[in-house]
Amino acid sequence: SSFAEIDLGKALSDNIGRCRYVKPTPIQKYAIPIALAGRDLMACAQTGSGKTAAFCFPIISGILRDNTMTPVPKWGVKVACPRALILSPTRELSCQIHEEAKKFAYQTGVKVVVVYGGSSIDQQLRCLEQGVDILVATPGRLVDMIERARVSLQKVKYLALDEADRMLDMGFERQIRKIVEQMEMPPPGARQTMLFSATFPTDIQKLASDFLSNYIFLTV
Ligand code: AMP
Repeated sequence: SSFAEIDLGKALSDNIGRCRYVKPTPIQKYAIPIALAGRDLMACAQTGSGKTAAFCFPIISGILRDNTMTPVPKWGVKVACPRALILSPTRELSCQIHEEAKKFAYQTGVKVVVVYGGSSIDQQLRCLEQGVDILVATPGRLVDMIERARVSLQKVKYLALDEADRMLDMGFERQIRKIVEQMEMPPPGARQTMLFSATFPTDIQKLASDFLSNYIFLTV
């Protein structure tokens, strides 16, 4: 199989070609069609399996299909309202996801911004003021921005949690629950959630049953 067989739209398909991805990895092969069909997903996948693309492609494709890209603002946006949120445990992983997502979103008008702790919040706030469609964030820094009313999660339609088991090991459960509570809980299915974890212990099963609706379980 090849990416050409998956309908991701021309702009994204061109960018996938530029990244020299030809053949989907197993997680991509199974997760992407499920996510494109709008289903929630719980995926057990290791680092290096290609999971970043597995959640980025459906998110970018969905935003382009919805045509909800934030226009370049004339004045700074005071409250950032992303359409997609990707949560990850560390600054390093968040920056990696940001770098990859920017390549996939190249010249599509989809704006990707990253925020993480342990670094100046002011500079990150200035990036958000330029508009954001996909926000990549570590949980603690995002809670801080929500409390300062600089980020609103009311419009989030696509939510991905990467390395969820590691986020729980690092003690982020309270922050993660607080973040998800910020999202409008509308008719079931209005938000699409993808949960990625290397392992599937009881605390992750609990997160899955709390955050996902009618989800498909994948393990590769
Ligand atoms: P990840 O598991 O998302 O961190 O991806 C691991 C590495 O594999 C990254 O360097 C990706 O750029 C690369 N990669 C992911 N999917 C593919 C693919 N379908 N073809 C070639 N390289 C890929």
